[in-house]
Amino acid sequence: MNPYPSPSQRDEQVRQTAAAIGGEVVPYGESVEGRPLLAIRKPGDGPAVLVCANIHGIEYISAQVALRFARIADLPAEVWIAPCLNPDGYAATWAAEGAGRLGALRKNANGVDLNRNFPMPWGAKPSWIPGAGSTHPDDATWRGPAPASEPEVSALIALMNRITPWAGVNLHSFMGTLIPPRVLHLADHRAYARLARAVRAEQTHARYRRLCFPPLDVFTGEQEDFQHHILCTWAVCMETFTLPASLWQRRRRKGLFWRFNPIDPAPWITSDAAGVTAFLAAALRLDRPKRRPGAQPRLLPGVQ
Ligand SMILES: [Zn+2]
Repeated sequence: MNPYPSPSQRDEQVRQTAAAIGGEVVPYGESVEGRPLLAIRKPGDGPAVLVCANIHGIEYISAQVALRFARIADLPAEVWIAPCLNPDGYAATWAAEGAGRLGALRKNANGVDLNRNFPMPWGAKPSWIPGAGSTHPDDATWRGPAPASEPEVSALIALMNRITPWAGVNLHSFMGTLIPPRVLHLADHRAYARLARAVRAEQTHARYRRLCFPPLDVFTGEQEDFQHHILCTWAVCMETFTLPASLWQRRRRKGLFWRFNPIDPAPWITSDAAGVTAFLAAALRLDRPKRRPGAQPRLLPGVQ
């Protein structure tokens, strides 16, 4: 899995990064298997911003983008970085050498897709649309027995409630896209279009497009929807790496792990860390997202 760090090497990276930027490591909870959930806090004037990564265990590149961002961040904000939201999935991926079924390497130790485990806005009900989350524990997108049932999610929610981030980026791989929350107001759509342009303007390697197709967009229990609608945080999912690049490198290394993680991560890390910074800087210049108490999810199809 060279050049990616083992679980203990990753935690060492977290400590070294915190020390290098004059920040501190903040343990904010424990995973199902008792691994510490670690965030880095870099003090600063202004509201909090939060960069999260690796909610899916196999997406190692995302933690590296988050840690690079920590080193280059120069923002009028208190900067928080949670580089690995799912340390059990990371450890399972390491133990399996990145091979096996996606469900086993993506989810937490209870088999839950943590990015389908957040409470949904306005009591929205789960959708049947593919990828929106499954009720079957064997599926790669099992949403778990109840919203926030998983310690990794409930601990993160407690942290977010405490710091109430103004803006946040959640790093994934490998689709090379920016996925904003599901918003129902034109002003919010336009704000996310502007924020996505700000990201692209600073990316130096691949410039990601915004994925936005309202008829197929539903509430799924994803982190960004929770952040935007419940915490009033400008939030986006950034998927590092691209499908063509992922397919192209299969000539060199096969296996599930290399579908998600570039063999040569350096240009992706540089480019996407700059993109993360650009998103947060642009969002800090906006007012916080408005709470939309009148908005009803049934205004768009696909949600019961
Ligand atoms: Zn992911």
